[in-house]
Amino acid sequence: DYDDYYQLLTELGGKAQGLDRILLYEGSRGCWWGEKHHCTFCGLNAQSMKFRAKKPAQVLAEIAELSQRYDAVRFRLVDNIIDMGYIDNLFGKLAEDHCDLDVFIETKSNLQKRQIKTLAAGGVKCMQPGLESLSLNQLRAMDKGATPMQNIVCLKWSLYYHVMVSWNILLGFPGETNEDYHRQLELIPSLFHLQPPEATGKFWLQRFSPYFTRPHEYGVRITGPGMAYEYIYDARQVDLKKVAYDFEHELDDWPVDPYLYQELVAAIEGWQRMHRLGDTPFLYYSKAPNYITIYDGRNPKEPTRRRYEGLAALVIEICNESGKSVEQIRTAATDKTECSETILKPILNDLMASRILYEERGKYFTLAVPENSHL
Ligand code: SF4
Repeated sequence: DYDDYYQLLTELGGKAQGLDRILLYEGSRGCWWGEKHHCTFCGLNAQSMKFRAKKPAQVLAEIAELSQRYDAVRFRLVDNIIDMGYIDNLFGKLAEDHCDLDVFIETKSNLQKRQIKTLAAGGVKCMQPGLESLSLNQLRAMDKGATPMQNIVCLKWSLYYHVMVSWNILLGFPGETNEDYHRQLELIPSLFHLQPPEATGKFWLQRFSPYFTRPHEYGVRITGPGMAYEYIYDARQVDLKKVAYDFEHELDDWPVDPYLYQELVAAIEGWQRMHRLGDTPFLYYSKAPNYITIYDGRNPKEPTRRRYEGLAALVIEICNESGKSVEQIRTAATDKTECSETILKPILNDLMASRILYEERGKYFTLAVPENSHL
């Protein structure tokens, strides 16, 4: 109910009118993922992780009512994680109705192409899918329940369907190794055409998170309240440890080379800069009846164009939607061309060397975004 707010705006007169206001809306509380696997750094939902969600029909009716009453089409869902049922039964319905809403959501990252398409058609213009890392080991350390492949799939289809992604790369976790940094440094240039993270840095140790409640299990030592608190509160009168939400900490063992850490931060800043400067990097493919052309401008100073025919072109298409194993590729290609492992392997290697395919645990995914806008 925003009646008081709008009443005040009316009282303030002309100067307060005309802005395109965003209404906050809450469809659910708690976290259905955190109920089973509490992400180790997450301090949200202190009172109860138990997930409680309004039915999609109720959300639909309430959004319609708020929109009607306040003449607003911009909504920010404050849910920590949306109910997966909202994808088809809320955003799917808004899409069927051809509504032109502008909605922000937070969600889990393992979304399929079809789901991102529905969200976009239903009015999601920006989302925060909690990607957090491009390293499998770090994602496991966080108990995030997602893989780098799923994060990349999410970034690619969000770009294709024009959904802005708000995400960060978190670092400094217990269990990290130099290898996690090397892998991300190696991967990032392949992803320059996708939306870069907004920020990177060491994770904040938050009250109520597993790192806070069971620090010894992770080799974490809490050394005091976050540095900012002493500038806000008088430490002689307030026990900062009691009021703090985030804390300074050290790890018993963090074998990461600080230069490597800086190198990764610099690589991410470079990625952000490329997108800020307007000369946005690109990687897309266009399809002709018998071949595929890849336009690669991930290095905007040296864009390239390369044509792929036969099985190579087929592989690019087969692996377009989601990661596929060698077996899945062979099954999909089998009635179109000869696809023995001996023929397929060098093609996969070539596509990976050109950074057109990303490989993870035996699955291959096309990084290039299709030019065709009807998929
Ligand atoms: S980070 Fe997100 S998904 Fe993980 S427990 Fe917290 S709210 Fe849930």
